[in-house]
Amino acid sequence: MCKNCEINSVIILSSGKKLCKTCFNRYFEKKVFKTIRKYRLIEEHDNLVVAVSGGKDSLTLLYLINMIVSKRREVKLQAVLIDEGIKGYRSKTIKDAEVFCNKYSIKLNIFSYKAEFGHTLDELIKKSKINPCAVCGVLRRYMLNKYSKKLKATKLATGHNLDDEAQSILMNQMKHNLEISARLGPITGVIKDKRFIPRIKPLYFMTEKEVMIYSHLKGFTSVFVECPNSYESFRSDIRDSLNQLEAKYPGTKNGIVKTFVESLPYLKQEFKFKSKIQSCSVCSEPCSNEKCKVCNFIEELKIKL
Ligand code: SF4
Ligand SMILES: [Zn+2]
Ligand SMILES: [Zn+2]
Repeated sequence: MCKNCEINSVIILSSGKKLCKTCFNRYFEKKVFKTIRKYRLIEEHDNLVVAVSGGKDSLTLLYLINMIVSKRREVKLQAVLIDEGIKGYRSKTIKDAEVFCNKYSIKLNIFSYKAEFGHTLDELIKKSKINPCAVCGVLRRYMLNKYSKKLKATKLATGHNLDDEAQSILMNQMKHNLEISARLGPITGVIKDKRFIPRIKPLYFMTEKEVMIYSHLKGFTSVFVECPNSYESFRSDIRDSLNQLEAKYPGTKNGIVKTFVESLPYLKQEFKFKSKIQSCSVCSEPCSNEKCKVCNFIEELKIKL
């Protein structure tokens, strides 16, 4: 039973609180809007680009940002979708994204690995022995930053949730990647640089389960599909371990993220003067070495393909 109105509950939060559909939707939206206000994720005259995949996280994000934008006419919004070329997966989620954007009259810009790099992710995996997620993440981040700049975005919003962030924090800890951890948080980056479009994560404090239920109650996605490569990564092992811990010790993920957020200002300060950003000598995109990871990767592949 819902703790507020004594009708059937749809969720038990990690705090143990039970909520019905109406109370849960209210709780969810209130918490996301509070994150946006507290971290100033959306400001006056922002030109927002929302990264969508057509999955539950990104459509929930787009829906809530659209709610804000429809009340604040000075803030602009459009969506961008990167089609990696993953058979049996991405084509289904693209359809959901198109239906959603049509319904809410949001411009959807679609860019693909095939057009950008000459190959789909499936082709790249077939022709070289690479970890799909490692390369996919690098290529997607590159394209999102490049095309957000082309669309004159002031901020790029992504659907990362609390589970995603807890996984990233642990992965960086285990690999001793403090500098990469310093770039995390509800708004990313250590130093401001016009070559990097700041990324905002309004769903930062919402668990995967909460986003899944909210999206389901709102009917955002038609089918639940997962990328066939998602089981092959380091992240998927961390995700499974964290889920086990959360089941045994509720609130674990929340504790990891909250502790991290409290230490983040010190971490950002530490790397403020150490982080160097250069422009890639080949493509001019920002990077920390003479050549960016994507150009290095493309060069490597030319040899292997
Ligand atoms: S699970 Fe891996 S391969 Fe699939 S879309 Fe995500 S990063 Fe790319
Ligand atoms: Zn209720
Ligand atoms: Zn480059």
